[in-house]
Amino acid sequence: MVKLCGITATATNSTMPTEIYLDGNATTAVLPAAIAAAVDIMGQRFGNPSSSHGAGLQAKAVLERTRACAMRVLGVGPGRLMFNSGATEGIQTAVLSALCALRERQANGEAIGDLLLYGATEHKAVPQSLEHWNRLLGLHLTLQALPVDGDGRHDLAALRALAPRAALVCTMAANNETGVISDLAGIAAVLTETGTAAYWLVDCVQALGKLPLELAHTRIDYAPFSGHKLYAPKGIGMLYVRAGAPYTPLIMGGGQEAGLRSGTENMAGIAALGAVLAALEQGGTFRTHAELAGFRARLADSLRAALPGIVFNHAFAASLPTTLNFSVPGVGSRELMDVFDAAGVRVSSGSACSAKQAAPSYVLVAMGVPDWRASGAIRMSFGPLTDEATIAAACARIARCGAALRSGGLLPMDDMPAGHDGVLQLGVDGASGWLVLDAARRRCVVIDPLPEQTARIATLVCGHDYGVDAIVATSPNADHATLIAALGPRFDGDAATDAYGWPMPADGASASSLPLGRHVLTAVTHADGQRSYLLATAEQAPTTAAAAVRFAFCATVTQPGLPACAGPDTLLCPTRDAHNQLCTTLRALAASVAQTEAEVRLDPAALDAFLQAHPGARLVDVREPYECAATAGVTPGGQPAIPVPLGQLADRLDQWLHGEHVPLVLVCRSGNRSLKAAQCLRRLGYRQAWSLDGGLALAPLALAA
Ligand code: PLP
Repeated sequence: MVKLCGITATATNSTMPTEIYLDGNATTAVLPAAIAAAVDIMGQRFGNPSSSHGAGLQAKAVLERTRACAMRVLGVGPGRLMFNSGATEGIQTAVLSALCALRERQANGEAIGDLLLYGATEHKAVPQSLEHWNRLLGLHLTLQALPVDGDGRHDLAALRALAPRAALVCTMAANNETGVISDLAGIAAVLTETGTAAYWLVDCVQALGKLPLELAHTRIDYAPFSGHKLYAPKGIGMLYVRAGAPYTPLIMGGGQEAGLRSGTENMAGIAALGAVLAALEQGGTFRTHAELAGFRARLADSLRAALPGIVFNHAFAASLPTTLNFSVPGVGSRELMDVFDAAGVRVSSGSACSAKQAAPSYVLVAMGVPDWRASGAIRMSFGPLTDEATIAAACARIARCGAALRSGGLLPMDDMPAGHDGVLQLGVDGASGWLVLDAARRRCVVIDPLPEQTARIATLVCGHDYGVDAIVATSPNADHATLIAALGPRFDGDAATDAYGWPMPADGASASSLPLGRHVLTAVTHADGQRSYLLATAEQAPTTAAAAVRFAFCATVTQPGLPACAGPDTLLCPTRDAHNQLCTTLRALAASVAQTEAEVRLDPAALDAFLQAHPGARLVDVREPYECAATAGVTPGGQPAIPVPLGQLADRLDQWLHGEHVPLVLVCRSGNRSLKAAQCLRRLGYRQAWSLDGGLALAPLALAA
């Protein structure tokens, strides 16, 4: 069941909390009137609008009624408006049309300019279409990004300088990541003032329904639109072409859309879009700018209260009232995405998250935003149909996310929480830093910290009131200056150490071992100059006999020399982990147990039957503590889950491997982390481990009993 305005109850179980959808710039739900219109035309008026019989004429009437409405809403005047599959197609068609005309003018000996100018913050469909068609048509013009200023608006002075050389200018009406509204009047004035004959494409996708558009009163040549950004379904869009602007069809064939775009029309999409446009024209359905700006202010206030230090990456006054783009010092976009998702708040990362780390958002980079903000940005966006209840619920969930991040040690805490004890892995895919923590004495050692984990380590250490005894590395001369600076008085950066960061007491000899609660840490230097750090339980020290070593922190698990100092069941904890093994043992490496992913994956539809067949089975939630806190006890099937964050898996493995092997069903948000963990367990000989496929996103959820 979908409640349109942003709160969705897709429950398979009535106790499941609702989902709050705040990703309207990616896509929106479909307006009930649009669904009804689509169902009506599919069920009752399914004729082909090109047919001349009654059924066809009925469909054609819907088609032309929708077009007429769109033309009024957009102020198309004598221009042309065709239906297509969406904005990406509209952009292709516009680019193809402009470039074909330019090629013709060039062939006629006309000077056309040498630049294809596009705003530096355009949707990637624009520069990529320009590159593609420029190459395919053999025009060999130069693609040139038009810079934007710190507010994300086009640099009009740069435009003034470049416009005389421009053959085509592409700018957007409003940006999809930040909501920044372009100064289209200013751009038009520069184009006129410079006397350029360049064509002008304006991507109006994010403007529809949010900004007034009177296209015929502008000098815009092409304007693509997309239905699914304003409560119509995916796969329907429109392209405006100014009267007199050159046009080349992208798709030829049956002559539909007056030959401008062949192919039988997507009538369900057109009817649905028609319902949205009618609502827009009639008024009363969508919220006003002032109401939406009020919603944004409430969300911003909640975010400020929940996430100390939050920075908004755009000026609200010059942005759509439906978009907030922000970054939080010390918390990456992945952590923010995870905590919002765990709380059932759907937002998007402003940056493209690659497998290894968040790539900075090119939009924010173009605005000159510092790297940490460009890499850690989150976009929260809502449609103009959003209601009061959604905003109120979102504000409450935002507060819960802030509390979850504080309790998880990612944000400074109000109260001192219980400290971690034991081994903690702080990794991004393929690489990890490690912490060994002594909660009783509040001391710890940091091993091979990754630069991207600096803020996390500093928050954890400072927030939990730890002191750092050493920052050590598996290779000599590692640079830990940024972490040392972030730790401040928690670490004595002036104390003498050797080239690996290992403490050297006053007598000049390296310390033989570092005590850490129930453990003792020692260092071994291998023949190749790499170092490993061996952690043995205190009772067994100082005998660091290989078999007594419980953890060996090493550069890689294939580090030569490890077999001489680690036992067959010592957990090898690597810094570089190309195969995402998390940790392993020499015994597992030698056995190299063949396993298929299929045997580890548990189909969520089979979970209930599995739990009935295995009454002793336990659910294990490998998400971060802050994600568990944000979810508030919701688990698959309502079964209580044991929280074992992936970073604490190595610590827990020791108990699991040496205890009774009960069936374990590991869960996480999407099934990726739990799959890694279950595979790790199986490699180490724990055959009773499964990963819930698709994670919590696909599982039937309920509040834990
Ligand atoms: N332009 C902008 C500004 C967008 O936000 C999008 C969608 O994300 C597109 C173009 C592409 O639209 P469509 O999904 O209809 O192809």
